[in-house]
Amino acid sequence: MSRTVRLTILPGDGIGPEVTDAAISVLTAVAPDAGLSLAIDRCPFGGAGIDATGNPLPEQTLKSCVSADAILLGAVGGPKYDEAARHQGAPRPEQGLLGLRKELELFANLRPSKLFEGLEAASPLRRDIVADTDILIVRELTGGVYFGDHREGTDVASDIMPYSREEVDRVARVAFEAAKGRNGRLTSVDKANVLATSRLWRAVVDDVAKDYPTVTVDHVLVDAMAMHLVTKPASFDVVVTENLFGDILSDELSAIVGSIGLAPSASLGTPDTPGLFEPIHGSAPDIAGQGIANPIGTILSAAMLLRHGLKADAAAERIETAVSTVLKQGLRTKDLGGDADTAAATSAILAAL
Ligand code: ATP
Ligand code: MG
Repeated sequence: MSRTVRLTILPGDGIGPEVTDAAISVLTAVAPDAGLSLAIDRCPFGGAGIDATGNPLPEQTLKSCVSADAILLGAVGGPKYDEAARHQGAPRPEQGLLGLRKELELFANLRPSKLFEGLEAASPLRRDIVADTDILIVRELTGGVYFGDHREGTDVASDIMPYSREEVDRVARVAFEAAKGRNGRLTSVDKANVLATSRLWRAVVDDVAKDYPTVTVDHVLVDAMAMHLVTKPASFDVVVTENLFGDILSDELSAIVGSIGLAPSASLGTPDTPGLFEPIHGSAPDIAGQGIANPIGTILSAAMLLRHGLKADAAAERIETAVSTVLKQGLRTKDLGGDADTAAATSAILAAL
């Protein structure tokens, strides 16, 4: 008996449709053995949503997302939409993404980054420093300075960074659970020597820690953390931090372990809302339509979708192993200095499955 699961696919813009197609072919390949029957609904979103309906998050698309078991997103945005927003006041594709995260309350953003075997040379760091790096960043995604009051001004401007105990508590629990399932080590990053929100953050993390006696917690200031990531990345395991710090540190980390084209992410809410899974890269307008995008970030996002969205851990592992295998064998897309195109990379992964 196979279980029917509803997947909403948001191909989006630029290379989004190319990399989501690659990931769908991988999901389709592993589904039967995992006892899954996929009901796929492709919906316009971002710039494609604006083209179709004038709205980056069309009503029909939101409906599909809300009733899905999981959502796979490519990427949104592009110069055409930036122009229209600047000159005609048109909506921005990115508003669709912020809207969807808010609508589904996807408060925890999981960004794993590890150095794949054979890719040591793709890191800007020395081999002995970067070896064995394998970090999961848990970034708070629906609070903090991105969502506080913004005051625009030509002489004075301000952005408010609010956090409530509840907002910190729920993302901290996601991080502690992850740490419990990994090495039992958690690093919480803040700026408690300066920011009130960070002192609340630290206090709440210490309170939640009482429920996780097997996990050791360290508190590190964000400026020190930025430095530690380049001097001793292999000494960290799970890292939890607020929205803005997480945004910056996860980009730093993705560059440290190689290409932005490799990195997946999961955005999760409560157990009864669907998760959103997407590569961390953008729509890459400079290479869109050429069939050369690296599909691995999206394929690994599909693996996270199987694990966190559908509880199909074995299928997720199959995909991750296939990706490690092809990279170890030397498969290199253009961003990794090779000449494999999207189709060749996808076929290699399908073959390794
Ligand atoms: P966003 O604002 O959405 O993050 P961005 O313009 O900052 O977008 P990306 O779209 O991620 O950044 O592109 C940054 C660079 O990385 C570009 O040169 C792009 O071609 C490259 N890049 C991004 N994703 C991939 C990929 N999957 N494969 C190959 N190159 C990629
Ligand atoms: Mg960017």
